[in-house]
Formats: sequence, C-alpha cells, structure tokens
Amino acid sequence: MTYKIAVLPGDGIGPEITAQAVRVLKAIESSALRFEMTTAPVGGAGFDAAQDPLPAQTLAICEASQAILFGSVGGPQYDALPRAQRPEQGLLRLRKHFDLFANLRPATVFPELAHASTLKAEVVAGLDILILRELTGDIYFGQPRGIRQIESGEREGFDTMRYTESEIKRIGHSAFQAARKRNKRVCSVDKANVLETTQLWRDVMTEVHQDYQDVALSHMYVDNAAMQLVRNPKQFDVIVTGNMFGDILSDEASMLTGSIGMLPSASINARGFGLYEPIHGSAPDIAGRGVANPLATILSSAMMLRYSLNEIAAADRIEAAVRSVLAKGLRTADIAMPGEAVIGTQAMGNAVVAAL
Ligand code: NAD
Repeated sequence: MTYKIAVLPGDGIGPEITAQAVRVLKAIESSALRFEMTTAPVGGAGFDAAQDPLPAQTLAICEASQAILFGSVGGPQYDALPRAQRPEQGLLRLRKHFDLFANLRPATVFPELAHASTLKAEVVAGLDILILRELTGDIYFGQPRGIRQIESGEREGFDTMRYTESEIKRIGHSAFQAARKRNKRVCSVDKANVLETTQLWRDVMTEVHQDYQDVALSHMYVDNAAMQLVRNPKQFDVIVTGNMFGDILSDEASMLTGSIGMLPSASINARGFGLYEPIHGSAPDIAGRGVANPLATILSSAMMLRYSLNEIAAADRIEAAVRSVLAKGLRTADIAMPGEAVIGTQAMGNAVVAAL
C-alpha cells in the first residue's frame, strides 16, 4: 500500500519534531508499505506564506491525503493578528472542514518515566488508557445560550446541553472500533442520574454496543470517573464521553503522565480520516534550539498508522522502538531526571530510527 500523508509542521518546534516523525515513517517503509508525504504550511507559517493560517493549497493537499500529520501552531509574533488570521484558526478550520468529531487522547506512562507523575509510581507505571472525547456537540455548541435579564432584575447565564442520537451513535462506533484495536473494554462516562442528555447518551451507547459484542461496555458517572482516574487509572482501557466531560477528564488523564512531550493525539471523522498531533503547543521558548522532545509527534504517527491506515503492526513497531530508546536511558531535557544525560531532538529521532 502507498499512503498519501499531508505533513503540516506549523510553527515553533513544529518543524523540528515533525521532521523526526517523517524520518521514522520513512524508516518503516517496506515493499508493502509506502508513504507519499507532502509538506505544506499551516498556522503562522501559513500566514507568512499566503496571509492565511490555512492556505487553499494546504487544504487541497489535505483533501488529497489519507491522513494529516500536524506539528503545532502559534507564536508570539502572531499574537496581535486579527482573530481570523491567528495560527490556531488553521487547526480549528481543519477540524471543521473534515468534521473531525472524535478526539482520541491516549495517556500512556512508560515505566521508565513513572517518576515524572505527581502520583505514586506504582499507581501509574505501565498506564495505557485512551480517552475519546466528542468534539463538535454538547453544551459548548448547544443553543440557546446567553446572558439575559430576568424578571427579578438580576442577570442569568444559560447554556444548553444537547446531543442528538446520531451524534452519540457515531462517537460510540468510534469508541468500540478503537477498543477493538486495544484491550476491548469501553467505559462510557455520563451523568445519567441528573442530566437527561446523558441518559440518552447511556441508552444509545448500550444500543450501539449490540454491534460490538466482543467488546465489554461499562458505564460510570463523571464524578466517579474523575476520582477513579487518580485512584486506580489502570482499571480503564477506552473511556468515551461527551465534549465537556471529555475536556476535563482528558486533561486530568494527561497530567497523570507528567510529561507533555510524550503525548500524542488524534481527531478523526466518520470515515476514519484523521489529524494526528502532539498535545503540546509550539513551545516558542525552546524553538530552534534542537532540544524539543520529538516522541509525542513520533507516537502521533503511530496513532495515524493504527487508527486511520489500519497498519497495526507498523504502529506497534514504532511504539516498541520508543519504549526501547526509553529503556536504554535516552532522554530529552523535558523527561530527564536531575543529573541524567540529555540528548537533542535529532539524536532522539536517530535513536528511534536505529531501534526500528
Ligand atoms: P506549549 O505546550 O507550547 O509549552 C508548554 C511548556 O512545555 C513550555 O515550557 C515548552 O517548552 C514545554 N514543551 C512543550 N512541548 C515540548 C516538547 N515537545 N519538548 C520539550 N518541551 C516541551 O504551551 P504554551 O507555552 O502554552 O503555548 C505556546 C504556543 O503554542 C502558543 O502560541 C499556543 O497558542 C500554542 N499552542 C498550540 C497548540 C496546537 O498547535 N495544537 C496547542 C497548545 C498551544
């Protein structure tokens, strides 16, 4: 198979870290697996090239591709631009254009890095969970919303929590399909004891589950899920939840790992097309110095292989290569313990390529 990949490095450390992921993808090419990668500007780089954070040509390249590998966008030099031209608009418009409604955020703690977590090492060592957050519905988008004057004369703020059956169904399918590529357990998180919207969520998840009898489904209230994530996070495999609960729980789960430079993410649509990116930003404070950790982006490329291209064995190989460089003690500055030797972005890329 030859896969077309749009590579959008973006700004700050984006170009440095995506360059390493591209090298890793080239290193796993074989006669049966090839990548045709096309690089295009996005974010501030898009503005510099075409006065647009998502230039038309960049969008055309993405449309002609099977997946997008994205670096990061943003930088102080773009902060004063009008909103429509700000770097993050490049990412938001891509999400909207491709209807990327499912956000996948793994929280993985490599045993060697368990010390970086604020939780006890034994609670998080070996953690491997995936949070699926619905990204385009819920109280963040529901109408009506606003701040109004009520009869008593005081102001009242209001928002509308809302999910249609079809919106819940499609994220449910994504969750069960993702679980099939992992440990086949889905925990659906809601607040069905209080919120009608999430009672529907629970009912529809149970219905969708009928198509996936090989996957186990459980339900949990969001307040309990927040507790369980810090008490015993290893009990979970895939957690699926709505936009607002997912916003909060996915940040909580990433912090279990303690290392922002290690965490990949994906946003995918109903066809499995996706945008893959590290969860961190463009780190202007270290950009251009060759010290950024490329592993989150390299692991994003593994997610791309797993979830958009269905090349599970290749994804496993990249993840195993990352585990082996960590086991050898190789560290970029952000994941090193005091006194540990530190290597740069390129050297970390070299190590992963060598491990492959
Ligand atoms: P950030 O994630 O860029 O950086 C936070 C801290 O983590 C910094 O100290 C940085 O040096 C460090 N860090 C981040 N990634 C690292 C890596 N791979 N290796 C080593 N250290 C790393 O967040 P911020 O400083 O709040 O934002 C900087 C810029 O990034 C802003 O313009 C923001 O809008 C943008 N941003 C973009 C995205 C995205 O592209 N999806 C996400 C978040 C922030």
